[in-house]
Amino acid sequence: MKITIFGSGYVGLVTGACFAEVGNDVLCVDIDQRKIDALNSGKIPIHEPGLDEIVAENIKEGRLRFTTDLREGVEFGLYQFIAVGTPPDEDGSADLRHVLSVAESIGTYMQEYRIVINKSTVPVGTADLVREKIGSVLVERNVDIDYDVVSNPEFLKEGDAVNDFMKPERIVVGVDNPRTRELLRFLYSPFNRSHERFIAMDVRSAELTKYAANAMLATKISFMNEIANIAERVGADVEAVRKGIGSDSRIGFSFIYPGIGYGGSCFPKDVQALERTAHKHGYHSRILQAVEAVNHDQKSSIVRKIRGHFTDGIKGSVFAIWGLAFKPNTDDMREAPSRRVIEELLSDGARVRVYDPVAMDEVRRIYGEHDDIFYASNPEEAIKGSDALVVLTEWLVFRSPDFEMIKRDLAHPVVFDGRNIYSPEFMEQSGFTYYSIGRPPRG
Ligand code: NAD
Repeated sequence: MKITIFGSGYVGLVTGACFAEVGNDVLCVDIDQRKIDALNSGKIPIHEPGLDEIVAENIKEGRLRFTTDLREGVEFGLYQFIAVGTPPDEDGSADLRHVLSVAESIGTYMQEYRIVINKSTVPVGTADLVREKIGSVLVERNVDIDYDVVSNPEFLKEGDAVNDFMKPERIVVGVDNPRTRELLRFLYSPFNRSHERFIAMDVRSAELTKYAANAMLATKISFMNEIANIAERVGADVEAVRKGIGSDSRIGFSFIYPGIGYGGSCFPKDVQALERTAHKHGYHSRILQAVEAVNHDQKSSIVRKIRGHFTDGIKGSVFAIWGLAFKPNTDDMREAPSRRVIEELLSDGARVRVYDPVAMDEVRRIYGEHDDIFYASNPEEAIKGSDALVVLTEWLVFRSPDFEMIKRDLAHPVVFDGRNIYSPEFMEQSGFTYYSIGRPPRG
């Protein structure tokens, strides 16, 4: 089948590569010339495990191509996926500029029936706006061409995106027309073999499903962070509490790790956008507002601990920071808690020596050459000459480091662990002063 994907970011590129991998002909369209040039020269602009291989293989087989030519994109595929960004507007609502610009291109260049499939995360009612936009361009062109607009939210996780796409837990499709629903079911059939994962529903419900999923996950995180904050005040250990509640099958263990708050390109903006949608429809969403507020505070929680430890202030102090990406296995720095931590430390007059296994280019792009930021090329280099270590992302490589080296090379044997990856008993026995989240300080 011929498929066009608008937007070659995390979602568009993974979607395109995976559809090509199962034998389809895919054309990926992006307006970012540099991104398309990079892809055409075999470079993958993002870090995503397994993506390089399938992109390279499918380019070689001629099933995957990249272009900036919108007309070519519209003319190519019966299936027209929209996978462009929906960043927050000034008031937190989703900015639909890019989605509607793709709709305009489709209306402008389509010559025959097209199925327009929205994969971007968009507020309820956006499919109607896309339909209207295409319709109005067709009227201007004075042509009458049939088309359908479908909502197909994407649930892949950065860091495991290829796997999630190839083996999805569910394929949600919001579609009003039974014939189009069956075409979509067929398109997704290679990813729907072992058991039924295709969940068809009306368009508005599909649009809301994506926000509800992300808001639920963000709620679990903020809830657990709130329990961590209570645990700290009452002298309990949140990790014991986590195990105690996770073993209840109605609660489960996933997404209840306390930490320094959620980040990334989805949870923060999606929680906000859902809250704005509710507000526009006259509903005051107290839970969503609380989820956001708790997360906002949590991002500074580790800095409060640092300030509490260095009671004479941290002006002139140097902090090694391990882990910068908003979560492991990605280079995505959008809304990463590390950014808040770095910025607060710098604003207190401290300096940082930062290291991340894959996000260094992104961090350099954000902060540039900076007198107070040293970009280390390995974890050891970040530690050398630092006063204390701050762990912000739970990359595997930080889980069992050379603690002797850390103690030897730090001016003070103090570790601030924003992800609870070390055992407090072990850290104390090893001679560290150790702070973590929701557990009493040690040492
Ligand atoms: P991204 O910023 O990585 O990529 C978006 C791409 O769209 C960019 O390359 C941009 O140049 C391109 N673009 C913008 N306007 C265009 C146009 N008119 N025509 C063609 N290309 C255009 O974004 P992303 O992370 O892939 O997210 C895309 C959407 O999917 C968002 O709505 C997001 O909320 C949603 N989503 C993201 C994830 C994730 O983990 N990143 C997961 C599920 C859903």
